[in-house]
Amino acid sequence: MRKYLLPKEGEFYKANLHMHTTISDGVLTPQEVKRLYVNEGYSIVAFSDHEVMVPHNYLTDDNFLAMTATEISINQYWGFDFEFQKTYHFNLLSGDPDKDYYRAFNKKNMWLGHSFDYISDNQEKHSFVKEYQIDNINEVIKISNEENLLVTYNHPVWSLQDYSDYIDLKGLWGVEWFNNGCVQGGFIDSIKPMEDLLRVGENVFPIACDDAHYQATCFGGFVMVKAKKLKYDDVFNALKEGDFYSSTKPLIEELFIEDGVITIKCSPVTRIMLTTERRYTQDVIGSNITEASFDLSNYIRRSTKNECKNPYVRLTLIDEDGNEAYTRAYHLYELR
Ligand SMILES: [Zn+2]
Ligand SMILES: [Zn+2]
Repeated sequence: MRKYLLPKEGEFYKANLHMHTTISDGVLTPQEVKRLYVNEGYSIVAFSDHEVMVPHNYLTDDNFLAMTATEISINQYWGFDFEFQKTYHFNLLSGDPDKDYYRAFNKKNMWLGHSFDYISDNQEKHSFVKEYQIDNINEVIKISNEENLLVTYNHPVWSLQDYSDYIDLKGLWGVEWFNNGCVQGGFIDSIKPMEDLLRVGENVFPIACDDAHYQATCFGGFVMVKAKKLKYDDVFNALKEGDFYSSTKPLIEELFIEDGVITIKCSPVTRIMLTTERRYTQDVIGSNITEASFDLSNYIRRSTKNECKNPYVRLTLIDEDGNEAYTRAYHLYELR
């Protein structure tokens, strides 16, 4: 029987889940962001201005969905020599389009004067002391999850963070492997932090985004979410369940498993690679590859024999220009 790993029903919608506007340190207004992204074929933008959760539902129409989000920062030291400090940046993506606050908020962490104008009355009621310390950080993630906020760990490289900073994070939803703003600034992320977290049992999803503050950093990384309709609940739930992939260009058309064989159909690429949590991989290399199938029976047998705790497979696509796309990890219990 065929099981679809990206849903058969519904449509793919192109999304940028990390964006700044004039509400924080971006130069584009929310309206300009919508116009630019719609012209470029996007259906979804999550407005994730720094520190303030501001809904933009007035922008939503039949062809465009504005998602409610914010990006929060937790710095090593507040208030001085920021360029020399490590920092955690997390995106909080709201399940409720009207949400205008989050519990991990603290006015003292606001670092842009004009953003104060966007603090809602609901937000004023919350004050949480954020510290650069793992238990405190995990508390931020936990209370965010309790509020139905999907938490993404943003741009580890730009944040000057390494394995020791992220490996104990619990309850993340996404990890950025591509952030267009950071790439253009010379801070190039990779899939490694996501992979490391998967290996310790955190079920994190791969995120590519723009983190654009102005037009030149738009249209680099995106996710393609497969949802029934371009409605907030449908899209949010599809994201939450992992019904998406992320990319800087290659497109996936179909992904399914049938009789232990995983099949992917895609736009022309030069390599399709199946990766597992062990040093067991399979790949297809060539020109204009638009389909590949991988028999998982050997991997399933060997991961059972080796008593792997958390076996999974995931797929990577690379095109002739080096653009990449990543599926999420599919755990073997989902594939049986
Ligand atoms: Zn950031
Ligand atoms: Zn950002």
